[in-house]
Amino acid sequence: MSRIHLLSPRLANQIAAGEVVERPASVIKEILENSLDAGASKVDVEIEQGGVKLMRVRDNGSGIDKEDLPLALSRHATSKIQVLEDLESVGSLGFRGEALASISSVSRLSLTSRQASQENAWQVQTEGRDMEATTEPAAHPEGTTVEVKDLFFNTPARRKFLKTEKTEFRHLDEVVKRLALSRFDVAFQLRHNGKVIHQLRQADSQLEQERRVANICGSAFIDNALNVDVVAEASGLRLWGWVGLPTFSRSQADLQYFFVNGRMIKDKVVTHAVRQAYADVLYHGRFPAYVLYLELDPSLVDVNVHPTKHEVRFRESRLVHDFLFRTLHRLIADMRPQDQLGGERTAENVGFEQGLQPVVAVQEPSHEQGRMAFTQRSPTRYGEGAVSSGYRSSYSQPPSQGLVNDQLAGYAALHPDSAQQTGEIDEAQEECPPMGYAVAQLHGVYILAENAQGLIVVDMHAAHERIVYERMKQSYEEDVVRSQPLLVPLSLAVSEREADCSEEYADTFKRLGFELARMGEETIVVRQVPVSLAKGNVEQLIRDVLSDMLVYGESKRIEQHINELLGTMACHGAVRANRQLTIPEMNALLRDMENTERSGQCNHGRPTWSQMTMNDLDKLFMRGQ
Ligand code: ADP
Ligand code: MG
Repeated sequence: MSRIHLLSPRLANQIAAGEVVERPASVIKEILENSLDAGASKVDVEIEQGGVKLMRVRDNGSGIDKEDLPLALSRHATSKIQVLEDLESVGSLGFRGEALASISSVSRLSLTSRQASQENAWQVQTEGRDMEATTEPAAHPEGTTVEVKDLFFNTPARRKFLKTEKTEFRHLDEVVKRLALSRFDVAFQLRHNGKVIHQLRQADSQLEQERRVANICGSAFIDNALNVDVVAEASGLRLWGWVGLPTFSRSQADLQYFFVNGRMIKDKVVTHAVRQAYADVLYHGRFPAYVLYLELDPSLVDVNVHPTKHEVRFRESRLVHDFLFRTLHRLIADMRPQDQLGGERTAENVGFEQGLQPVVAVQEPSHEQGRMAFTQRSPTRYGEGAVSSGYRSSYSQPPSQGLVNDQLAGYAALHPDSAQQTGEIDEAQEECPPMGYAVAQLHGVYILAENAQGLIVVDMHAAHERIVYERMKQSYEEDVVRSQPLLVPLSLAVSEREADCSEEYADTFKRLGFELARMGEETIVVRQVPVSLAKGNVEQLIRDVLSDMLVYGESKRIEQHINELLGTMACHGAVRANRQLTIPEMNALLRDMENTERSGQCNHGRPTWSQMTMNDLDKLFMRGQ
């Protein structure tokens, strides 16, 4: 080994670059974040050859003072924080003061800037191993341009890791999209090899914002998304944005954007809470789609846990988890067929190629446990149906298969109103219900119904399965959970933290039908379990629940297991294909769908119904073309 010596500034920067500059996309992220931090309202990005040859970003932000220009390129130099305390509530995207230094050590970088107060603009570049900056006068409007050429020209090992131009551009484009979603008030333009890829104007109104989301995530997403905006008074947390309907799920987690105070992050507490909220309605292995914004007091989140700041740490992760889960769970449960039916085109949505789907905002109830009320964005378009109706079925006995069939047979009796419908719509009659009136049954599988928009096709079994399932869950919750003692109490060796946790949550376990007791520092004993779970793997369940509670502060596993059981029962109990239904029975089923939580998907996440509008049908027959 040779003697110890200080690294040259360039080498030190190149080493630091290893952390933040992985590929062109990471350079664009840093440069654009600087533009946003500088208060720009417009940024233009020009790329050549996937960013390897050239990346140029021009903004109209505050600019940099001539004297500060060389500093901007040196390491540990920032205008964004002064003292350690500033870090605890940092409002800017950057603060580490090393991005430009790192980038300029592995590329040919020039920085040109002009502040409003300055006569003309100045430009800096760095040279040699000492990274000395040379400043020259330049021509530039107010704002800043950063130009990065020949990325990794002097670090061949890194250059080898670069993928094809197409792949590198795809990554870079993704970064631009994320930032464009994070700041609706900023206009973005992206060009690649001279071609305009994105041209996004400032988006102030909700409609403009939705247009931007449609541009970036595809119009199918916004057409199949609900709008949410909830504030938790007590904690000051706010969640807003768009969540995809369960039937608009994806095979990959590629349409999941989550921003915390304007910063896009990936976080396991967040992912877990969202997945749990969708647990009951997603087909196995499918991923929900969402664009969501969480806003909270900056001092409640630590952003300095990762050099690229893709991760954050919540000071109160349980609180955040709970808020996200509750809000989204309620939103999904309260979705009704009428939320998914397109209304007529209105002046406010003609900007879209396809009519905008109902966008429903949710407000947090004044007290935590309460049911959220839907507020409709456009009351004229969605009648009273969109408001939770407080509908209660008369089905309230413990679930049993016989009852399920009785219930179906009794549809007509339960719903005298719909029983009177003959399937023909009386024009003079007041509003047609969202799912319309049954006209026929197809091959014993589908119900065909006529509604205001056209034809509705319902998968009878899938729809009924969900209705039965939701009723079983409801009656299960209303009943006190019945539990039974184990013949031989089950003794479990656990960690001390897990044992503490079992004591802390003893009440929760009890409510769910379990009786646990602590026997020693690292031993607990299970005495009583819910009747319905007595035959399952109790030990595994308890272990999984304890580990959930340690990490997330709660666990839905017990409910999930019970729900799975109920789901299986519902599936067997639901009306089978080839069962002939009368028109009143079919109408009763349609009315139930309008009033049942999560009725848009069967228990396995498949859609239960589909709409063909008159327009769709006209197209099919080339009518009026
Ligand atoms: P950080 O963003 O962490 O402060 P950077 O190396 O990215 O560190 O940037 C260094 C400094 O250069 C910033 O603190 C800021 O003062 C200045 N700067 C960089 N880009 C811009 C820009 N586009 N407009 C105005 N100032 C900028
Ligand atoms: Mg920065």
